[in-house]
Amino acid sequence: MSDYTLSASAISRLVRSGDVKAVDSVSSAFTRIEQVEPRVDAFLHLDRAGAMAAAEAVDRMVASGADPGPLAGVPVAVKDNIATPDLPTSCASRILKNYVPPYSAAVVERLRSAGAVIVGKTNMDEFAMGSSCENSAFKPTRNPHDLSRIPGGSSGGSAAAVASAMVPVSLGSDTGGSIRQPAALTGTVGFKPTYGRVSRYGLIAFGSSLDQIGPFSRTVEDCALLMKVISGRDPRDSTCSSTAVPDFLSFLNDGVRSLRIGLPAEYFIDGMQPEVEKSVRAAAEVFTSLGARTLDISLPHTRFAVAVYYVVATAEASSNLARYDGVHYGYRTPEAVGLVDLYQKTRRDGFGDEVKRRIMLGTFALSSGYSEAYYKKALQVRSLMKRDFDLAFQDVDVIIAPTTPTTAFRIGEKINDPLSMYLSDVFTISANLATIPAVSLPCGLDSSGLPIGIQIMAPPFREDLVLKAAASLERALGIAPLTADP
Ligand code: GLN
Repeated sequence: MSDYTLSASAISRLVRSGDVKAVDSVSSAFTRIEQVEPRVDAFLHLDRAGAMAAAEAVDRMVASGADPGPLAGVPVAVKDNIATPDLPTSCASRILKNYVPPYSAAVVERLRSAGAVIVGKTNMDEFAMGSSCENSAFKPTRNPHDLSRIPGGSSGGSAAAVASAMVPVSLGSDTGGSIRQPAALTGTVGFKPTYGRVSRYGLIAFGSSLDQIGPFSRTVEDCALLMKVISGRDPRDSTCSSTAVPDFLSFLNDGVRSLRIGLPAEYFIDGMQPEVEKSVRAAAEVFTSLGARTLDISLPHTRFAVAVYYVVATAEASSNLARYDGVHYGYRTPEAVGLVDLYQKTRRDGFGDEVKRRIMLGTFALSSGYSEAYYKKALQVRSLMKRDFDLAFQDVDVIIAPTTPTTAFRIGEKINDPLSMYLSDVFTISANLATIPAVSLPCGLDSSGLPIGIQIMAPPFREDLVLKAAASLERALGIAPLTADP
């Protein structure tokens, strides 16, 4: 088998029927990885031996008449902040370099018991803080559509691996846009589930009230398939919901007739790339032509999103990252004189600049005398933002918006300007603060041939609405799957 552009759904069908061997599916993925990875740099760790052994186990199941599961023999890449007990999980940080967790993330268990084969761990911004993959302590990842540009972040490696067809699907994490933003910039489908839909057990924490794991794929069908496998209750994550998980694949042909679609005024702003606005508005017209109704709506507190996020997320990060002390695990400075010196030098050398910036911001926002003015205020505005969505969803079923204000920018372009980097998430952050599900899928290309993403959001636990709208648009546009050949 050598068609590396096969979808996950197609691979698993072929493997389960015995027409294709899982070992061939996995070795074809490694052939593609050998061809393009040297230019893209999507991976931090590859595990050919482990992957081939897992594929052989799948083939043995098929041979014995057992069903290996809905992802039988599907090569999958996993972001490096998701715990794998047989592969390093570094969060692209020096402080966790070569760290191998003692346990599996819930999503990794679920992937493996569905027959998926993990080929490696993908590059990311350190501790998922960033929008370009340039904050990795080890290397930047490149956008397979244009190697001089960033793939987005923080899940840039997972996005680039799927965009260049090294794997059909991967997992990322999204705290403020880290799945949807890189999906938009690489022409892939990226889904941030409702907060609580997917277990965070084994996801290394950044902003615990915002973090969710979700899939990247090249088709909406594969997105629904992965969502079905990874969603559902897990007693090891107390915030993971026991809300029933519907068969996400069953909504893909429902169509959008009489669906009410909101276009929020606040998501079409001065300074955004005109081609992005044009593409998203054209997609809105496609929805109308399919029988949906579009309505202009307002989410009035949107303008506070970036400010609120950078207080809440950094406050949570400063607390979550206190555990990296050089004592429990991870990097320890060899030069310490005494305990305080050990903490200081370990953290000074172990963390990169952006992570330190976030820890300082968060510590300040939580410190005595300031927490009322910053942290508490941010939580209050977060509730107002959530209420904006609750009110809007009384009138519309889903909301559509651009995923990002621009297409992929150049490597180095924003790295010395944190504020302009933070602004690349203006359109994605609100869904995390409001805990709602949101997808990004390709809706066009700009004049340089770079992908443009459209975002579809729905009320909590209405992933079904997101997926049926996304599947209808994908069919009508006919541009997916986009595959880059770097
Ligand atoms: N880019 C945003 C940040 O830097 C979002 C990151 C994420 O979703 N993990 O925090």
